[in-house]
Amino acid sequence: MTTTPSWAERATSLRPDGRMLIDGERRATQTGETFAKHSPIDARLLGPVARGAAADVDAAVRSARAAFEDGRWSGKSPAQRKKILQKFSEKILAAKDELGLLETLDMGKPIQYSTAVDVTATARCIAWYAEAVDKIYDEIAPTAASALALVTREPMGVIGVIVPWNYPMIMAAWKLGPALAAGNSVVLKPSEKSPFTALRLAELAVEAGLPPGVFNVVPGYGHEAGEALALHMEVDAIGFTGSTRTGRRMYEYAGKSNLKRVYNELGGKSAFLVFDDFKDVERAAKTVAGGMFFNQGESCNAPSRVLVHERVADEFVKIVAAEAPRYAPADPLDAKTEMGALVDDTQLRTVLGYIEAGHAEGAKVVAGGRQVRAETGGYYVEPTVFDRVTNSMKIAQEEIFGPVMAVIRFKDEKEAVAMANASTYGLQASVWSDDINRAHRVARALRAGTVHVNSYDEDDITVPFGGYKQSGNGRDKSLHAFDKYTELKTTWVRIDGLK
Ligand code: NAD
Repeated sequence: MTTTPSWAERATSLRPDGRMLIDGERRATQTGETFAKHSPIDARLLGPVARGAAADVDAAVRSARAAFEDGRWSGKSPAQRKKILQKFSEKILAAKDELGLLETLDMGKPIQYSTAVDVTATARCIAWYAEAVDKIYDEIAPTAASALALVTREPMGVIGVIVPWNYPMIMAAWKLGPALAAGNSVVLKPSEKSPFTALRLAELAVEAGLPPGVFNVVPGYGHEAGEALALHMEVDAIGFTGSTRTGRRMYEYAGKSNLKRVYNELGGKSAFLVFDDFKDVERAAKTVAGGMFFNQGESCNAPSRVLVHERVADEFVKIVAAEAPRYAPADPLDAKTEMGALVDDTQLRTVLGYIEAGHAEGAKVVAGGRQVRAETGGYYVEPTVFDRVTNSMKIAQEEIFGPVMAVIRFKDEKEAVAMANASTYGLQASVWSDDINRAHRVARALRAGTVHVNSYDEDDITVPFGGYKQSGNGRDKSLHAFDKYTELKTTWVRIDGLK
């Protein structure tokens, strides 16, 4: 009788080789340099990672530029590109276990989510843009009859993509889907903290028939490979997802080089507003716990600022505090685990530092608050809930990017909206009310790219995702994402003999 090996047993067969993927093939860096990558689960060595530098980025950009100029991809019809990208999506799904396992080992999220959520969302994203691309028409402007004015969209050229470690595959796919479907070439720089799935994705794309040079991956550090990519004169646009701090640099790099387009998807401190007219307090409380503790709280849109009407706050906090331990961290390779490991020691220290700041500023811990599972060598923190937070506290204003929720009490709608908007971020928000007028009124008043009403977990590739204020510009997902990776061209044709 054969038994299916456990995730832990399968993990031992993955052996990253420390190379990049340029021009359709695995290549060592020009200096031969690599760095060691350990798993946040238990500090095991996963393998060497290519330490890409400016010369490697240059080789990848040249390859991408050559592919773009000779039309091997940009010159294909939308229907031809669709076919190859659909195959790419199918290959991603077929490699679900391998990709899921790599993602979990690399950045610590539970295996049940990396396989069921991350891999499937990545495949669906690529397929969705593939299916969309041969259904989009250009425009003819309503000008005088003596002229024909064509308004068309053309691929931009070489797109540099720089992504973070919290959803490595999905963040890359949100940019690869529209950029590749539109006919561009891409150079992807994954996070140094989670480089492995990006390389595997590029291999699968080549196997699916994507011509060499169209999708290149250069792993490496932000200040080396990332900076070189964002400064490169032959890169036409940067699709960036990451912190607001690094997002600022993207504009500097563009200003110092070729004024490339910069599309930033940055941090968040999303507000979740619960009014006392909302009857099902338990549903609101359980939803916020699920949203906050999913992915170890390492989500840009985590509802980390919870504003609750003072009349229902005690009941709400009691339920959230009772719910938090359901997300207690456990072995990410166990299929039942709900919360895994934080990405590394730096992130662990950051999160523990914010917990200390919460105590110091007078907030009250009602759940969690401690590091756990240190004996594994990995980085785990309990799901933590602070009550009695004020909106000016550090834990209410700064993005923690870990499993720490701040509950703030409010007196009325005006105060709630003012506090929700008193943030430098504006990624998402949520309003819970049974009063339809209030729900619409507050949803309109909230300065955020996405507002949920009586929900938090709605998500679909069909809708734009992105932020107001310092949460970024541009939008990932939906047909709107094509705008970022295409140029708009007007072509005037004079028709003689007509007035
Ligand atoms: P980060 O800014 O530190 O790094 C992101 C990427 O930029 C990495 O690939 C990194 O190597 C690179 N980088 C770092 N410094 C660079 C530099 N000087 N020049 C060029 N590249 C550089 O962010 P992170 O810690 O990886 O990710 C967490 C952040 O990402 C959080 O703020 C989170 O909110 C944000 N995020 C936003 C979204 C969104 O859609 N808005 C989604 C996911 C994550």
